[in-house]
Amino acid sequence: MNKASISCFPLSGTTPLFLDKNENPFSLPPSPREELRQILCQAPLNRYPEGRSSLLRAKLADYVKTDESQIIIGNGGDEILYLLFLALIDQSGPILTLEPTFSEYSHLSRIFRRERRCVPIELDDNGFNLNEEAFIDAIALFSPAMILLDCPNNPTGIRLSSSFLRRVIELAPCLVIVDEAYVEFSGNSIIDLFREKRWPSNLIVLRTLSKAWGLAGLRLGYAVADSDLVSDLDSIRPPYNINALSQEAAQIVLGYREWMESRVFSLRYIRDHFIQEINRLDGWEAYESEANYVMVTSPWDKTKMETLLTAENIHVRFIEMPGRKETFLRVSIGKEEEMRRFLSLLEDQEEVPSFKEMPGA
Ligand code: PMP
Repeated sequence: MNKASISCFPLSGTTPLFLDKNENPFSLPPSPREELRQILCQAPLNRYPEGRSSLLRAKLADYVKTDESQIIIGNGGDEILYLLFLALIDQSGPILTLEPTFSEYSHLSRIFRRERRCVPIELDDNGFNLNEEAFIDAIALFSPAMILLDCPNNPTGIRLSSSFLRRVIELAPCLVIVDEAYVEFSGNSIIDLFREKRWPSNLIVLRTLSKAWGLAGLRLGYAVADSDLVSDLDSIRPPYNINALSQEAAQIVLGYREWMESRVFSLRYIRDHFIQEINRLDGWEAYESEANYVMVTSPWDKTKMETLLTAENIHVRFIEMPGRKETFLRVSIGKEEEMRRFLSLLEDQEEVPSFKEMPGA
């Protein structure tokens, strides 16, 4: 029986609904758009871009309140991850990470023929959680070449505790990447722990402008690390990896921090409401999240879910959870009306009896 309350929103035909890439659904307001238009008209595109993205690095250093020498910029956070795998090419040892986690870690491990060891995120009555001691034990057991921890974790949305991250950084015999792609949604950056202290030489904090800042199309990621490590990564970075327009555009948008924060506030509100609504549906469960996506278990099998979503042109990400048979979906948080469209679809399935159940059928 359907318990959800949202049912008055009409389904909007086959307009695609992208809830699969954890993008920000809000586009830029008119004022930065106008500034961007002017940049596009004036930029000297016959010239190469400034190779070290110095002005943008200064703006990012200001945003994270650190020194410019500690910032490296990549063509998306993905490029920085690529550089990190490249930097380790001569070192032996596996990658130690979580399961599930950001799919790019396993993709890069395959490309670089790097073994991957994973500590599973478990699901119990309290939701998703990591057995921290098991992870600490795995460091000693596997002697990894690099540790990759996304915080908040993609796809479960859980945040790892600062005390746990601090222990990992202290104990690790290798680089520790704390991937904070979604940190604006959760707060509590690991950077805060080390701002006043000596920055650990093995810590790299990965960030991106693709999520809270809504600039996925520009392809801009950055990392904060010890300045020696930044120099090492800089030496293997492709020259001019950040094009001139992206450099300029990002500088403009970083000036609209209040706009970004208000969008983050809205998305968190929509997310929490969406979780409540899903949990009102029989057989469905949505889990708490500290990011702009939510893990959901569906009472239906994957094929039924896929058929239904494909027919409605709705895109989500299906997730394999180790040792679990349920159908897990990661649903990115869109605008309110987009989430209502998704919910209406599920509600309608519950309301309409299937053909076999109809009287006289
Ligand atoms: N880290 C995590 C955990 C992500 O989910 C993503 C993108 N989905 C990235 C890094 C990379 O983001 P981008 O390349 O867009 O900067």
